Amino acid sequence: MAAQYRIKEIFYTLQGEGAQAGRPAVFCRFSKCNLWNGRENGRAAAVCNFCDTDFIGTDGHLGGVYDLEQLVTVIQQQWPGSTANGQAQGKPYVVCTGGEPALQLDDELVSALQRAGFEVAIETNGTLPLANGIDWVCLSPKGESELVVIECDELKLVYPQADAPPERFDHIQADHYYLQPMADYEPVVIASDKLQGAVESLSTTNTHKTLQYCLKHPRWKLSLQTHKMIRIE
Ligand code: SF4
Repeated sequence: MAAQYRIKEIFYTLQGEGAQAGRPAVFCRFSKCNLWNGRENGRAAAVCNFCDTDFIGTDGHLGGVYDLEQLVTVIQQQWPGSTANGQAQGKPYVVCTGGEPALQLDDELVSALQRAGFEVAIETNGTLPLANGIDWVCLSPKGESELVVIECDELKLVYPQADAPPERFDHIQADHYYLQPMADYEPVVIASDKLQGAVESLSTTNTHKTLQYCLKHPRWKLSLQTHKMIRIE
C-alpha cells in the first residue's frame, strides 16, 4: 500500500532559529511525537515535557492525510515561482518538523522532494533512525531520551534541561553547536506612537543562563527564536 503522511500544517515562512535563521523555508509539520502524546494530561509523564507545539491531528493550515505525490505538490506550491527545472528563486528549502518527523519521513519522500528541487531539512529529537539522503539535520535532544542520531549538521539543545546538560552531548558530531534558551519570555508592551504591539524581553533568566554558558564554553553558540520576537510563525 502506498505511504500516507499525516500532516498537521504546511506554511511558508522564515526559519527563525539556529544556523539557517533568516532563510525562507516551507515548513511541513508532521503529526505525532514519540516523546509526548501532545495532550496536557500526558505532559507530566512525558519524556519531553516543555513542548509548546500543537502537533495533534491534521487540522492546521493545509493539514491533511496525503499520499507522496500530493504532499510534494502542496509543498512545491508554497515556494514562490516554479521549483521545477531549476527555475525557482533561490534554493527551495523545506523543513520537516513536528511532532517528530522521523516517525513518517521516509527515503521515498526525501527523494521526491529533492527531485522537485528542494533541499530537505529535518528537525528531530534524534531518538529514531533517519531516512537516507536528508540534506540538513538539526538534532534537538530532549530530556533523558536515548539518541540514535549522533551525527548532524547542527545540534540545537534547549537550555537548561535538568536531564540534558550540554556535557551529555560531547560525543555528538556536528558542524554547529547551539544552545537555545527554554522559553520563559515575559511580554513587554511598548507604548509608542511609532511602534505598536509587544516585543519579547530578552532579559530573561534562561537567556542569561544560556549566554553565560556559551561564554564559558565557546564551542556553543546562542540560538534565539527570532520568529517569536517578530511574531511570525
Ligand atoms: S520532542 Fe519536540 S515535538 Fe516532541 S514533545 Fe518534545 S519538543 Fe514537542
